[in-house]
Amino acid sequence: MPINMKAFLFTTALLMGATVWAQPLDRLHRKALVIDTHNDFISISLSNRIAFDASLQGRTHSDLNRMFKGGIDAQFFSIFGGGDIGFAHAMQEIDSVYAIAQRNPDRVALATSPAELKKAARSGKLAALMGVEGGHMIEDDLNKLQTLYNRGVRYMTLTWNNSTLWASSAAEETSGKIPVEKRGLNSFGQQVVQKMNEMGMMVDISHVGEKTFWDVMKIVTKPVIASHSSVYHFAPVPRNLKDDQIDAIGKNGGVICVNFYSGFLDSTFDKKSARPPLSKLIDHIDYIAKRIGVDHVGLGSDFDGIGSSPQELDGVQDFPKITRALLERGYSNKDIRKILGGNVLRVFAANDRK
Ligand SMILES: [Zn+2]
Repeated sequence: MPINMKAFLFTTALLMGATVWAQPLDRLHRKALVIDTHNDFISISLSNRIAFDASLQGRTHSDLNRMFKGGIDAQFFSIFGGGDIGFAHAMQEIDSVYAIAQRNPDRVALATSPAELKKAARSGKLAALMGVEGGHMIEDDLNKLQTLYNRGVRYMTLTWNNSTLWASSAAEETSGKIPVEKRGLNSFGQQVVQKMNEMGMMVDISHVGEKTFWDVMKIVTKPVIASHSSVYHFAPVPRNLKDDQIDAIGKNGGVICVNFYSGFLDSTFDKKSARPPLSKLIDHIDYIAKRIGVDHVGLGSDFDGIGSSPQELDGVQDFPKITRALLERGYSNKDIRKILGGNVLRVFAANDRK
């Protein structure tokens, strides 16, 4: 073959390489089941009177159109109210999730089981799931916990920043507000965890204090979830997970879904207040994967609940950039599918009663 022909073919291959490269990435992301375990849109939609199915680009991290753009198949919406806001508010937030599904029957399906999640994704709809953030919302009443389950809630963080009477939070254990002897789960707290395991509601250890964490790990019978927590090793804030906690979640078969908040990813963030690069988020994922295995890490963005996210991640539309960054970090397609949603689905299935 003439030398100039060789050069021509080589150049063509290079050019094609550049264009086809985007296609496998796109195909990998679109075909993977992408599950985000924490989004706070519902709370801001109630306080700011904005609708999920409106176009909110530039105002929020999330809206329905951008969820599709980001290739998200399933979203756990956080059912949340601050420390003194209880069960009635949780009911309202659940109503809002129902309303989103009812207004958009062609694009959104409420999902309460792994089977329903997969069915929604197969039919090209966003699977809308719910997790309660803050055990205070059950108002110390197991019947209310049951009602939350009956209405479709499939995880609950045992605390938010505030402690309950039955479980101490990371914020209040470290501030010293809760004295040492009152920390952890009391006997009612143990009943809550037990009932969650029996019902098939995932026990979420995000936000709980260390004493509560270890008390939980002694008694859980199912894999736990950290719906939006990052790694203490990189950013020593009270509610990031320390190495021994990460190891325990690995042994338990659970999953840690990394929080995108800049201040939980980068310990220097508060001082410089510049957004960390996307690679910082990948560092957290990589740390967990290397420490306890790629089967135990996922994504819990906390979008619309956080004031800052890494560069390139401006909102839910940017999830494909995470897939690209994982490929660049050397992860296989198989492992990327686990991180994007496979691991959460496995833990969800292990907790599911059906
Ligand atoms: Zn939170």
